Amino acid sequence: MSDTAIVWFRRDLRLDDNPALSAALHSGARILPVYIHAPAEEAPWAPGAASRWWLHHSLTALDAALRARGTRLWIGQGESLAQLRRLAKHSGARAIYWNRLYDPATRTRDTEIKQQLRAAGLDCASHNGALLFEPWEAATGSGGPYKVFSAFWRHCAPRLTDLPAACTTPAQIPGAEVEGGDTVDALGLLPRIRWDQGLAEAWTPGEQGARMAAEQFLADRLSDYGELRDHPDRPATSRLSPHLHFGEIGPRRLLALTRAALPTSPDTGEDAFVRELGWREFAHHLLYHFPHTPEHPLDARFADYPWREPPHDELLERWQQGRTGIPLVDAGMRELWHTGWMHNRVRMVVASFLTKNLRLPWQLGARWFWDTLVDADLASNTLGWQWTAGCGADAAPYFRVFNPVRQGERFDPSGTYVRRWCPELARLPDKVLQQPWTVSNGLARGHYPAPMVDLAQSRREALAGWEEIKS
Ligand SMILES: Cc1cc2nc3c(=O)[nH]c(=O)nc-3n(C[C@H](O)[C@H](O)[C@H](O)COP(=O)(O)OP(=O)(O)OC[C@H]3O[C@@H](n4cnc5c(N)ncnc54)[C@H](O)[C@@H]3O)c2cc1C
Repeated sequence: MSDTAIVWFRRDLRLDDNPALSAALHSGARILPVYIHAPAEEAPWAPGAASRWWLHHSLTALDAALRARGTRLWIGQGESLAQLRRLAKHSGARAIYWNRLYDPATRTRDTEIKQQLRAAGLDCASHNGALLFEPWEAATGSGGPYKVFSAFWRHCAPRLTDLPAACTTPAQIPGAEVEGGDTVDALGLLPRIRWDQGLAEAWTPGEQGARMAAEQFLADRLSDYGELRDHPDRPATSRLSPHLHFGEIGPRRLLALTRAALPTSPDTGEDAFVRELGWREFAHHLLYHFPHTPEHPLDARFADYPWREPPHDELLERWQQGRTGIPLVDAGMRELWHTGWMHNRVRMVVASFLTKNLRLPWQLGARWFWDTLVDADLASNTLGWQWTAGCGADAAPYFRVFNPVRQGERFDPSGTYVRRWCPELARLPDKVLQQPWTVSNGLARGHYPAPMVDLAQSRREALAGWEEIKS
């Protein structure tokens, strides 16, 4: 009888291009696919409500894919180490394979688990299934981490051609059976009060949904991506971020599909879409080297920034609910609440509004995104918030305060995006849509609120705060 190997699935919820699964199969062992729900081990960044919704559906899809290949997903809850030990004992497994995660809490946990399991005589092998490059592979001339994206990407882009090929989906998986295990439902990931209808309309979680989204994007939208990617009024981007976060499609597979879709483009990584995947790599590079950044600014001067004095609750709530009175900000916040996603350009605008016009600490915004985004990702969220607040690596200079009116006029010129999410403004003409407070006839604005701050005045206050700390 052949050996048994546990494949411990985490945020690599796919069978294609899954290096841990592939290595386990290669060993000739029977496979015990396992998922352990242990949110406490990810504290203080346990998955938020929108991520849990996604996870429920993604696990369901993974289980179905495994069943179609002759096995199933064994699901457990509670302490990961104890569960893995118990499973190894019951199944007689001698080896455990997984793909690496890079956020501080899971890194610490995984190191501990590896030590303990090895001490107990088990083989443990971890692989890179989440990134094109390991976060420690890129180093500056002096051996330190990169803090500027362009330099980081200059280092990485020429190496894209040397990456190992993505491994393929196994046709069959010789499964090892172990009694017990929970159902996905038993994890209680879905909300008790069903607010998730908008999410269900917008997304198809799981590996098949990821592949379909990638293929559709590459066939229909890749060629215009560079030109249109900043326009929230156009469906121009891939919307692959949640699929990438949960590992339903691997970045190497996505890169290979992109190359195949653009066969004539030189393989330099200059292509606009591959460059965005580069930002995802950069985010992980930063989080790996600066693990304090989900809570603390990378630029230490910002620890003394004069944020608005509490209480913040009322201001924060109006921002969260999309009732700021600034159309592009409100459209973005409502899109987020309804679909669990927001366009990148609008993420920058709403983050700038919160941190600069309202002068609320960026950590409050990052937390709200964490709970509401289906693609909530500690590396990318931290980078995005610190970049916009001006306190991160390669950040937007602090004095660049996004003007939501100008941004709306430029990137949503005919108001399609604002009208979709703020229907009470639908009848305003284009030229005032982004600043409805300039309309003398208040009735035309319906119940839409007046702006909660004066954009010019609040911008000056934000810049004054920067003057206080900049030296
Ligand atoms: C304040 C703020 C918070 C953010 N929080 C997150 C987050 O929690 N999770 C997340 O995945 N992205 C986050 N982003 C980055 C970006 O907004 C999303 O990755 C992007 O909007 C996802 O849409 P898409 O898949 O259509 O992107 P596309 O334009 O199609 O890009 C393809 C992929 O590249 C990656 N990517 C693109 N832009 C970035 C970027 N700026 N930083 C890192 N990766 C990028 C994503 O994985 C994305 O799926 C944040 C940005 C900001 C400004």
